[in-house]
Amino acid sequence: MASLSLEHIYKRYPNGFEAVKDFNLEIEDKEFIIFVGPSGCGKSTTLRMIAGLEEISEGTLKIGDKVMNDVEPKDRDIAMVFQNYALYPHMTVYDNMAFGLKLRKVPKDQIDKMVKEAAKILDLDKLLDRKPKALSGGQRQRVAMGRAIVRDPKVFLMDEPLSNLDAKLRVQMRIEISKLHQRLGATIIYVTHDQTEAMTLGTRIVVMKDGVVQQVDSPQNLYNNPGNLFVAGFIGSPQMNFMDAVVEAAGKNVTLKVGQHSIKLPEAKSKALIDGGYVGKTVVMGIRPEDVHDSAEFIAASPDTVVESTIRVYELLGAEVFLYFDVENFPMTARVNPTTTARTGDTVKFALDAEKIHVFDKETELTIT
Ligand code: ATP
Repeated sequence: MASLSLEHIYKRYPNGFEAVKDFNLEIEDKEFIIFVGPSGCGKSTTLRMIAGLEEISEGTLKIGDKVMNDVEPKDRDIAMVFQNYALYPHMTVYDNMAFGLKLRKVPKDQIDKMVKEAAKILDLDKLLDRKPKALSGGQRQRVAMGRAIVRDPKVFLMDEPLSNLDAKLRVQMRIEISKLHQRLGATIIYVTHDQTEAMTLGTRIVVMKDGVVQQVDSPQNLYNNPGNLFVAGFIGSPQMNFMDAVVEAAGKNVTLKVGQHSIKLPEAKSKALIDGGYVGKTVVMGIRPEDVHDSAEFIAASPDTVVESTIRVYELLGAEVFLYFDVENFPMTARVNPTTTARTGDTVKFALDAEKIHVFDKETELTIT
C-alpha cells in the first residue's frame, strides 16, 4: 500500500520564514496528486519534506501506517524525478539507469532484467548504449524517469519534470507520464506551476498559495466550483473575468449592478446572496470567458444578463476567438465561435450565462455561490 498521510505539516526555515503552514492531506494508493500554485507558494518544500530532503518542522508524515518523519530518504521507498534530470554524462543510458541498483548491490542479472523492462516501458530499448549528450531533451527526461522506475518505489515524486522541455515535447511527455501512471499503478505526487499539466494529469489537485492549501479537489470540481477567488483566478486560461458588483434585491431574485449594467441571477444563486445578508453590499462577480456569449440566439434567450461594450482586441486562434473589452473599467475576455462577426472597434452585446456566474465575498474572498 502506498497511501500517504500528511497531518498538520509545517516548514519553518532557520530565518523564521514559514514556507508551509498546516498542510493536511490523505493520499490514496495509486493516486496522481498535483501540487500547483504560483512561484514560492511552498510546493517544492512540501515535496522535499515527503522525500526526506527537507526536515519537517512540525506535523506527521506517514507512508502506509509508518511514521516517516525521521526515516532517511533512501529508506522511504520513494523515487524522485527533478526538472534538471542530472544524468551522469560519462555513462550510457543503461548504466545511468542501473547505477542506483548497483549501489544497492542488486545482483547483475536482476539489474539487467529491471533496466530492460523499464527501457521497454519508456521506449528506450534502442538507446541503451548511448550517452546522454547523444539524446534529445525528451529522451533524457525519459532516462531520468527510467532511473526512478527501475527502483520500483512505492511513491514517485516529480518536481516540474517537464519544465526544461520545449512546448511540443512537454505535451508528448505529458501523455507519456499519464500512460506511465496507468501502467505502473503507482502513487505519484507531481509539482508544477503549469495549470494545463495540473488539469490533464491529476486525479486530484492541491492548489497552494503562500504556504497554505487553498483547495484540494478533482480537476473538474476545481474548475467548476472554485472555493475562493484565488483558485477561481488561478485555474483556467484565459482566466475568469471578475467585476465588483452591488447586490440589489428584486423579489426572489437579486440583480448584480455593475455600474449601468444589471445582471439578474437565477433563484438558487439569489437565495444564497439574500440568505447570506449580501443585499446592498458589494461582492465580486466572476464569469469564465466561455460563458460570455455574443450569439444572437443566446442574447435573445438571456435578456436579463446582457452587457454592451466596444471590442478592444480581436484575436483569432483558429478554433476559437478571444474578444477583449471592458465593462465599467473591468477588463473582460469572451471566448467565442470563430464565426463571430465582431471585430476591433465594434460595439457588441454579450449575454452572460447566469447559471455559470460565480459570486465571491469581497472581504474574505470565499465563494458565496
Ligand atoms: P517555485 O515554483 O518557484 O519552485 P515553490 O512553490 O516550489 O516555488 P518553494 O521552493 O517550496 O516554492 O519555496 C517556498 C518559500 O520558501 C519561498 O518563499 C522560498 O523563498 C522560501 N525558502 C525556500 N528555501 C528557503 C530557505 N532555505 N530559507 C528560507 N526560506 C526559504
